[in-house]
Amino acid sequence: MTGKDLKEKYPLAFSQMPMEPILLFGLEIDEGWIPLIEVICRSMYNRHNMFIRQIEYYESCIEKCNKEDADLIATYKHQKEVMQKNLEEYIDQLPTFTQIKEKYGSLRISTTRIDQYYDGMITMAEDMSEHICEKCGDKGRLYSIHWHKTLCDKHADERYGDAARIFRESH
Ligand SMILES: [Zn+2]
Repeated sequence: MTGKDLKEKYPLAFSQMPMEPILLFGLEIDEGWIPLIEVICRSMYNRHNMFIRQIEYYESCIEKCNKEDADLIATYKHQKEVMQKNLEEYIDQLPTFTQIKEKYGSLRISTTRIDQYYDGMITMAEDMSEHICEKCGDKGRLYSIHWHKTLCDKHADERYGDAARIFRESH
């Protein structure tokens, strides 16, 4: 999955990030780290989808109600409105991504706001990126050759040739 695919699959998570040009601005990482971002996106959508399911549930209740049962219909309508309000508040307060990039060989994620839950997830993703090849997602290590880059042995060899092997032997 590319950064573009991720943005299309989870638009809510990127609502404050410019869609184009994707590769030049906003989401500037290789595919190996995309799963780290997707875990956070999925978490955002889990809560979002829970509210959607609740709204749909109350809609189905209203449809099934006997038309004369005005009190019950009013109750369901009220419940639905409460859920819609919860959903709007959730979207409003969700810390969405403003920038995702690589810095000094590890992942850096910026969001629209501070949030204890997502800040914890982001810290974990950033820490994990120090051990995951940015190219392919395999187990990687931080290579400090010319500049910093976290890569698996294969991709380090491709990029740095003999220097990668020498780096591994000396670290
Ligand atoms: Zn790799």
